[in-house]
Amino acid sequence: MTAASTGTPSTALVLVINCGSSSMKYQLVEPVSAEVLAAGLVERIGEEQGRAVHSAGGQDREFTGPIADHGAALGIIADLFAESGRPLDPAGLLAVGHRVVHGGAVFGDPVLVDDHVLGQIRELAALAPLHNPAAATGIERAREAFPGVPQVAVFDTAFFRTLPAAAHTYAIDAQVAAEHQIRRYGFHGTSHQYVSGQVALALGRDITDLDQIVLHLGNGASASAVAGGIAVETSMGLTPLEGLVMGTRSGDVDPGVLFYLARVAGLDTDGLDTLLNRRSGLLGLAGVNDFRDVQTRMDAGNDAARLAFDVYCHRVRKYVGAYLAVLGGADVITFTAGVGENAPAVRAAVLAGLERLGIEIDAERNAVRSKEPRVISTDASTVTVMVVPTNEELAIARATAQLVQQG
Ligand code: ADP
Repeated sequence: MTAASTGTPSTALVLVINCGSSSMKYQLVEPVSAEVLAAGLVERIGEEQGRAVHSAGGQDREFTGPIADHGAALGIIADLFAESGRPLDPAGLLAVGHRVVHGGAVFGDPVLVDDHVLGQIRELAALAPLHNPAAATGIERAREAFPGVPQVAVFDTAFFRTLPAAAHTYAIDAQVAAEHQIRRYGFHGTSHQYVSGQVALALGRDITDLDQIVLHLGNGASASAVAGGIAVETSMGLTPLEGLVMGTRSGDVDPGVLFYLARVAGLDTDGLDTLLNRRSGLLGLAGVNDFRDVQTRMDAGNDAARLAFDVYCHRVRKYVGAYLAVLGGADVITFTAGVGENAPAVRAAVLAGLERLGIEIDAERNAVRSKEPRVISTDASTVTVMVVPTNEELAIARATAQLVQQG
């Protein structure tokens, strides 16, 4: 969680809300200065014992106890704001910005939420059953909690609406695909867009002059190819399951595995869904889904953890190669998110031995720990390799403010 600081009250604050099915993350952000006035996380909503942590003014406050639903979560957040001595005053809010995972074919740019939009977000639940219903509920409750404050939905799929047809089309029966809206949508778009923009800023280059590969390696993980600021490829697909190896998700597998398991192991649709989304990835291979735990086990000589690390890095490397071909060569390759920002060993393994492609990491620069954007390639490397911290909340706050202020 981003450290919250004390700051000057402003009437242009945006409350950013990111709802999971049983969680709600939030930040109160000043979108121009990027100042975070408060941040927090409510977890285990709907379970016997919920928990909330609120960080503001350099202090953490905690709540434990039952939290019935997302509406109750907002009430607890309001209480924690009040206890911290800085009540959440709706009059001081420019807007509430909501992260919505799936915009489907309907939504691109951020939208002001009204009843119709809320209905459409709900209808997209078939495409994102774990995520969209939670976001819709969060929006609904926030409208009740902050009447008169504009609610804006920012979609994780939006940045990838520009993918060319050759990249977003699956080679399956075209009629079936059209009928069921099956295509590559891509996710983590807010992060890929933010990070590719930060790269241009950090290098002092015009984004339209840069061909970039962005590697978002967090709990979820995805890669993108961005040509001149426009997304042209990404690794996640119809759902956030395709592509890279993740904490609990498999990423790419032969779809034939599913039919085979259905036939020989009798797994039904839910069983297969659970296997690939919740019991695979690092967890499936190493028994732990947190990358730090994988590294600890690997360093202690655990073979399963070593294999998980190798499979993870090999997959990322394969996508780097693919996207170098898609772009016809890249100017910048950037690592971001929890693993990408904090695991030098992953960055080194992913890009090792690629000097022939003009990619050379500097071991010393790679070892530096920092929260700032930084170059980790050698001066001789023709491709610049960077580490750039992502900040999805700030990107959502800025997109929200921009929409509301446009009018
Ligand atoms: P998300 O936002 O998708 O929940 P994050 O971007 O916070 O995820 O990334 C979480 C992942 O980053 C976890 O697997 C965690 O282990 C990993 N991570 C965080 N810090 C480190 C570190 N110092 N070294 C290696 N991995 C790390």
